[in-house]
Amino acid sequence: MTRDRVEEFEKIMSHLLYMEGFGSCSEAVERLDYLYPRAIIVDPYIDPSTKEIMASEEYPAGHQEGFVPLRILPLFKSDANLDPEMASHVAHTQYANYCCVTHQITLNVDAVETRTFLATSLLHELGHAQLAEKESRIGDASPRNPFDRLQEELKMWLFDCRLAQATGGRKLEREINKTIAQYLARPNYKPQPGVGKPLDYCYRPVADKQAQGFRDNIYLVFCGLIAAKRRLKPNEAHYRQLQIINEAGVLRVQ
Ligand SMILES: [Zn+2]
Repeated sequence: MTRDRVEEFEKIMSHLLYMEGFGSCSEAVERLDYLYPRAIIVDPYIDPSTKEIMASEEYPAGHQEGFVPLRILPLFKSDANLDPEMASHVAHTQYANYCCVTHQITLNVDAVETRTFLATSLLHELGHAQLAEKESRIGDASPRNPFDRLQEELKMWLFDCRLAQATGGRKLEREINKTIAQYLARPNYKPQPGVGKPLDYCYRPVADKQAQGFRDNIYLVFCGLIAAKRRLKPNEAHYRQLQIINEAGVLRVQ
């Protein structure tokens, strides 16, 4: 176990404390309550026979029988040098992902984003982990029905959106309302680069252009989800929201 990984993880998670309004989002607090009794920070390890990305088995001392650890792998860019499998894992982990086979969340701690953003990415993946445990899917490698996955992804994005609203406060709300009004007023509305700038109110500013572009997409997804809920009947809103998530292609990044 390298000390660095634990430190990086703790540094990132501590940023949640600075998010104004975080405590008012009870479901985010619940996710942390799920995380801390289960989390073990692990080093990367590839199973030589299956080539699965596993983790070293280091359970916290004194765990009870039947304890199912949630592995957290803080991933470094330099882990790509370990072997080709790890190189591919590093390349495919833009921010974070969850694997139910190993019940492991990988968090790219070297991602070009703010620590606050990365902490919320971890919360997103925690939602997937929680659901996998609830639905007894831990260790299950069988392929899943794409529609179930889409429904699950929507659930996670709606959480991300509510957390952003709770922490972005009135300033973010005002900007979202403005964007939705512009979009409705002009059906051929083409958002300009930088449209996602209001997300700085929750995630803090990021200097990297590519990261800003990704935030633009996240912001427009949030606006779309909110507009659907406000303007459509519940069934239609749900269908429209599924469509938005599907079109955003977020399943590729889990
Ligand atoms: Zn997801």
